[in-house]
Amino acid sequence: MIAEKKELIKRYRGTELQTKGWVQEAALRMLMNNLDEEVAEKPEELVVYGGIGKAARNWESFQAIVETLKKLESDETLLVQSGKPVAVFKSHENAPRVLLANSNLVPAWANWDHFHELDKKGLMMYGQMTAGSWIYIGSQGIVQGTYETFAELARQHYGGTLKHTITLTAGLGGMGGAQPLAVTMNEGVCLAIEVDETRIDRRIETAYLDVKTDSLDEAIRLAREAKKEGRALSIGLLGNAAEVLPRMIEKGFIPEVLTDQTSAHDPLNGYIPAGYSLDEAAKLRSEDAKQYVKLSKESIASHVRSMLELQKKGAITFDYGNNIRQVAKDEGVENAFDFPGFVPAYIRPQFCEGKGPFRWAALSGNPDDIYKIDEVLLKEFKDNEPLCKWIRMAREKISFQGLPSRICWLGYGDRARFGKIINDMVASGELEAPIVIGRDHLDAGSVASPNRETESMKDGSDAVADWPILNALINAVGGASWVSVHHGGGVGMGYSLHAGMVIVADGKKEAEARLERVLTTDPGMGVVRHADAGYDLAIKTAREKGINMPMLGE
Ligand code: NAD
Repeated sequence: MIAEKKELIKRYRGTELQTKGWVQEAALRMLMNNLDEEVAEKPEELVVYGGIGKAARNWESFQAIVETLKKLESDETLLVQSGKPVAVFKSHENAPRVLLANSNLVPAWANWDHFHELDKKGLMMYGQMTAGSWIYIGSQGIVQGTYETFAELARQHYGGTLKHTITLTAGLGGMGGAQPLAVTMNEGVCLAIEVDETRIDRRIETAYLDVKTDSLDEAIRLAREAKKEGRALSIGLLGNAAEVLPRMIEKGFIPEVLTDQTSAHDPLNGYIPAGYSLDEAAKLRSEDAKQYVKLSKESIASHVRSMLELQKKGAITFDYGNNIRQVAKDEGVENAFDFPGFVPAYIRPQFCEGKGPFRWAALSGNPDDIYKIDEVLLKEFKDNEPLCKWIRMAREKISFQGLPSRICWLGYGDRARFGKIINDMVASGELEAPIVIGRDHLDAGSVASPNRETESMKDGSDAVADWPILNALINAVGGASWVSVHHGGGVGMGYSLHAGMVIVADGKKEAEARLERVLTTDPGMGVVRHADAGYDLAIKTAREKGINMPMLGE
């Protein structure tokens, strides 16, 4: 990274404040953490993950955000428009300190071409989900979701374990890099194709991936041996998925499970066309973006054709949230949607109970703060065996990246309870510093994304985007520390609207009330959204938990 830029990204730790309050401090530290070189994929370009998901529009905006957060009073609110700080207004102490809107376009203009035009003019940035909303925590942030997905697949097809199975996937980026560890945590073998060797090395360094090879035959041999022995193993194969999948078919290699997490949602920046090295691809991208996108989409189409063929030959195949089916369909692969998305296939029941990727980070930088919370969680939620199993496994297998953090899929009721426990621990001095609590936008009630989180909704309301807007509004009213509304995350321009929320437990009484409100409304929106769509489990949850839904009936 260019030295002077690197110097702008600080690692603030401990209890000394750079700002006028812990909530502002949390925003500052999480912005820095998003871009920490242990966490971000390309910090030198302000890119955090997921193609070109950025934390700030450009370096001038980044510096202005930092300076503004340092001066921001505890009764003021900073407004950020696509990564640029545009105003500070007087608000009040219980209001969010920051409101962010990223990559939002009027629907008829909501496509990559128009976005790229605006991006080039410096008028926009792509916020992805947690990149532009300052709550990305690296691959550790998605690993439980990925683990839960594979665990549910194992329950549905293999009696609860991936032992003696091979999962084939591609893409070892910020999120995709969680796949090998999630598969081995489910006792299976993972073969992950990745075109960029530095990404493979990064996953090995951080213990998400076991071994690497550039030989297809070697990869297949290693995978088959481990499968036969029932030994968990993850293998990174250097190659281009669009080239490797057809060769696998030729060789008669059929995995038990098949998916993909290349950044196919962004054909210009997230996918390397077949036949191109990384350098050649970069050159073509800068010299002839149109031709690049054409080749990239053709490769994505052939990648999906291979996936469909392997599905026909018996591989359990699913889309892992990167819109690869849509890109292929637009390229003429009529049956691209023959394999399902991961949410309807494996995750939706969790959303019906308001469960989703809930996370927290220790602002002190002290891992002990996280370990102490682990202990309390294991005690307070001891009847929740899957949760306790997860916490124990996470402690053993997941290395921290950046600020020490933890993730677990908590649902309605438990999140608010957890928030109070953490705030009490901060208040009593048990923890060194406040804790920041947040979640992915990929959550129960915060996203409208018809090819992903809201695919195949029971009542056909897949594309209804009022829900994430209501989610952001109610969380802001409740006093979340920062709230964001984004477009295009996960699946690209035109395909999603979603909202983020982060709330700080600083030990104060006012924070306790804010936590109680926000950690109720936020998962509550998940239950309500799914109950409204007619899901029995969500209706039952709403009734049992006493959520007031005027038209739910008896
Ligand atoms: P990323 O951009 O950090 O990584 C993508 C990786 O794919 C890169 O390492 C890249 O080198 C590799 N790649 C690109 N073209 C390739 C090809 N042809 N063959 C092999 N490898 C290739 O993105 P990420 O953060 O890892 O996210 C990946 C995708 O998953 C995105 O579309 C994202 O929106 C989606 N996503 C899914 C979930 C989920 O839970 N399912 C969550 C977040 C993101």
